[in-house]
Amino acid sequence: MMQLDNLYQEVILDHYKHPENKGLSQIFDAQVHHINPSCGDEITLNLTLDGSLVKTVTWDGVGCSISQASVSIMSGLMIGKELRAAQVIFDSFVELMQSKGNGQPDETILEDAVSLTGVSQYPARIKCALLGWMAFKDASVQAQKKN
Ligand code: ZN
Repeated sequence: MMQLDNLYQEVILDHYKHPENKGLSQIFDAQVHHINPSCGDEITLNLTLDGSLVKTVTWDGVGCSISQASVSIMSGLMIGKELRAAQVIFDSFVELMQSKGNGQPDETILEDAVSLTGVSQYPARIKCALLGWMAFKDASVQAQKKN
């Protein structure tokens, strides 16, 4: 495995073993399926909105610990947020993943997602970390069109 900070590695493994919001909801405004062929990660994500509020994010998936932990962390961050706040979190995380290991993540915005900071040093794994986030972004665009 990659060399990540031990504490961060624990957070990632904890989300991998005890994922949040895993198990697809019966009801959803948008459902998307995203894959990362280079690693074999797959995520299906269901989103419901209540006006401009993210009401539920549920998902199911298979793949590496980074991809599955990242979607778990993302789901916990986004539920209950206004779409505008969700966009700020999304942008912060994308910026962190593009930081080549030099990011200065804002823990008040990214919370557990800062544990993925080290991934930004490994170009091949950035897509793993971003997979669930891109699925959320896609689903939020689709859900807004529907509403
Ligand atoms: Zn992966």
